[in-house]
Amino acid sequence: MLSVLVVGHGLSGAIIAHTLTDYGLEVHCIEGRVPHSASQVATGLINPFIGPKLNTPTEIDECLFANQEFFKKWEEMSNQKLYYKDSLIRVFRTEQQLLKWRLLENEDLSSKFATSLASKHEIKNVGLTAPFGAGITLSYRLDILAYLKLSKERLIAKSRWTSTLFEESMINEFDITIFAEGHNVSANPYFNWLPFAPAQGEILELDGPRLPLCSNGTWFLPHSSKNAKAGSTWKHEDLKSGPTDKGKKTIYKNLNFLPIDQFKLVNHLSGIRSGTMDRSPIIGRHPKISKLYIFNGFGSRGSTTIKMNAERLAEFIILEKPLNQNIDLNRFKKKIRCPT
Ligand SMILES: Cc1cc2nc3c(=O)[nH]c(=O)nc-3n(C[C@H](O)[C@H](O)[C@H](O)COP(=O)(O)OP(=O)(O)OC[C@H]3O[C@@H](n4cnc5c(N)ncnc54)[C@H](O)[C@@H]3O)c2cc1C
Repeated sequence: MLSVLVVGHGLSGAIIAHTLTDYGLEVHCIEGRVPHSASQVATGLINPFIGPKLNTPTEIDECLFANQEFFKKWEEMSNQKLYYKDSLIRVFRTEQQLLKWRLLENEDLSSKFATSLASKHEIKNVGLTAPFGAGITLSYRLDILAYLKLSKERLIAKSRWTSTLFEESMINEFDITIFAEGHNVSANPYFNWLPFAPAQGEILELDGPRLPLCSNGTWFLPHSSKNAKAGSTWKHEDLKSGPTDKGKKTIYKNLNFLPIDQFKLVNHLSGIRSGTMDRSPIIGRHPKISKLYIFNGFGSRGSTTIKMNAERLAEFIILEKPLNQNIDLNRFKKKIRCPT
């Protein structure tokens, strides 16, 4: 049986570890609590229409299917809810977004997500300001922290967990090593040559009236009976600044579609997303050291894409099924020389 070391237990490390375990591999996970981990702050929102252009993420059906199968099993095993389906109110910022939404309503996909236009009455009733109107659609949310807690407990129970930072000598103890280190790939001696584009993001935890899940690009997500989370921001410089006053002001300004003055700030957090230059994950085998793999680059959409891509990496490792060109690290081989 192939023995595997997974380096990092954020969302990507946890999911690849259990995916390979489900295929019968002997998987050990190490976690070194590197600051600014994305999974520790992310809200886990899965939104079918993203960005100012309200584009549909590629392979959204495959992603949702993979998530549903996987988390359903975890929910049954733990008797705990991890994966939620919810209605999302998308507040338009421009006339163009309203027009795009009207076009979306005629597409196949929109019927799957029960996409519709909100009436003026509905918008007013929930207390939102939306001069260009708003749409309603289905969305999903993964409780990332709850999942990571269960995953860690399971690995510990099977003696497959060590709390430690990676050391080079460890790769000799396993058949293969998979690095799932998030933004800390910048310190990885084997894979730091790949074109990552990390981005720091901040979120606020707010206490105030209960409002529904809504977003105008900046989202507001009810979290418990009183609390909500809101965010986020993007910056590519000064990544390790932690939460900033500027970030907080930006989120408050962008939440102008809510009665924001009725909310009290209870917490302010930040993390670093491990993005990539072409916005696709970077997955695969090291070009020169065949026992080393990378599983990284999930940017701002890890809750949507990680499980589907974990299946692909598993099939690549076990069945030698080639990876799709758009995620395979070899897409950079001609452009960037691997120095190792
Ligand atoms: C503010 C913010 C909001 C977000 N909101 C959403 C959202 O709503 N929906 C969504 O889908 N995504 C969201 N994301 C993105 C999401 O968080 C990421 O896609 C996902 O969590 C990435 O997980 P990861 O495991 O790749 O990286 P990380 O979560 O960064 O995990 C990497 C782990 O590896 C460990 N590690 C690193 N190096 C080593 C080493 N050498 N040795 C041992 N351990 C190591 C770290 O300690 C860490 O635990 C958000 C991100 C941010 C920052």
